[in-house]
Amino acid sequence: MNRSDEIRDLYITGLRNAHAMESQAMSVIDAQLARLESYPEMTQMLQQHRRETEGQIARLDRILEGMGESASTLKDTAMSAMGSMHAMGNALAADEVLKNHMADYMFEHFEIAAYTSLITMAEANGDTASIPLLQQNLAEEQRFQQQLIDSLPGVTQTFLQRTESGQKADV
Ligand code: MG
Ligand code: FE
Repeated sequence: MNRSDEIRDLYITGLRNAHAMESQAMSVIDAQLARLESYPEMTQMLQQHRRETEGQIARLDRILEGMGESASTLKDTAMSAMGSMHAMGNALAADEVLKNHMADYMFEHFEIAAYTSLITMAEANGDTASIPLLQQNLAEEQRFQQQLIDSLPGVTQTFLQRTESGQKADV
């Protein structure tokens, strides 16, 4: 394999990893939405990011297609299973909503790093047409990450108030 083939392979692998990462995001969001009852603001935020995530997956499919490749079903399935497992892990906690919130914030950091790296790989591969698509995914992750941290004090306050007054507070 020559060098430019290697650079191309690394880019395709990065795109497939990002696709699997978004499958994981989707299964985490779905698992959290299925359990949320007492935090309408959180539900709304997750619903919006779920729609964004669908768009992100479509963009990655488009980029892979443009490279004559497709996503990896195996990677997608594995990461999606990991996502549901991860979401289940918080389900016994009294502060489930806060644990989920912090985990989501952490996940957004990972996504931001992944797209930042992919944009550089797209440049290295001369795939300039895909850069705006990757930048849009990146911008959405940055927006959601900011929204998560901005909303955390309010969600924590609601959690404390609901706990104090004996209402359902976990999710
Ligand atoms: Mg995402
Ligand atoms: Fe995200």
